[in-house]
Amino acid sequence: MVELLLRGQPLGSVEAILFDKDGTLSLSEPGLLALSRARLQACLEHLPEASRPQFQHLLERAYGLEGDRLHPAGTTAVASRQHNLISTATAFCQVGLGWPDALAHSEAVFAATDPTTDPAIDREPIHGQGPRPGEAPLAPLTEGVKPLLLELHRSGVLLAVISNDDSEGIHRFLGGHGLSELFQEIWSADMRPLKPDPAAVHGLCSRLGVNPSACALIGDASSDLRMAEGAGVGLALGYSAGWSSRPPLPEHLPHLDHWQELGVGR
Ligand SMILES: [Mg+2]
Repeated sequence: MVELLLRGQPLGSVEAILFDKDGTLSLSEPGLLALSRARLQACLEHLPEASRPQFQHLLERAYGLEGDRLHPAGTTAVASRQHNLISTATAFCQVGLGWPDALAHSEAVFAATDPTTDPAIDREPIHGQGPRPGEAPLAPLTEGVKPLLLELHRSGVLLAVISNDDSEGIHRFLGGHGLSELFQEIWSADMRPLKPDPAAVHGLCSRLGVNPSACALIGDASSDLRMAEGAGVGLALGYSAGWSSRPPLPEHLPHLDHWQELGVGR
């Protein structure tokens, strides 16, 4: 067990820490902003001119697209690709399409705008090389997270990622930042059930061989923290610095505004 400190005060002792990825380990907003705009533009091409303004308004609301910012609790920020696809299809229905057409248009738009990756470089360090042609750029780390992860790893605490990104995306992110060796396990959108089902936490904990009560979970979404509480996680911690707008987090749980605020007891 490793004792965690929040702003110098003991928080509790844990065997493992489960990290959300988007908005917690990674500064995902610029990439997700670009992705949601690309999806919106591609959708507009599937519609007659007259429906476009209404559709754009509806889809921006659904995605949480607010000018140059993404709502940190919006669909694009929080939900899986599949849930974003369903919300896109719903917007098509709201401007008059039937569900089969709405779904077909949404699938075509997502297939055309999905960030592409080169499978040959998966899990290989690409730090410093920049993205290759056709490859989605690597989202930067949140400020100060790498020294903390190194310190946690040295302390012997197990580290894992629980995310609605797919396994390939998680491995590419960790490998790209030289973090793969620090993390023992992941739970991705390829596993079932998906986050935020508390059973996702149980699945990840059983892979790690730890009891949920001996874990901390750190996330930037209230859905992460409700999942943690529902799963019986020992410490649910909110992280608020991953977005340009502060994410709404449950008041009754501790939260941190910078990774420097979290440390390991001696
Ligand atoms: Mg997140």
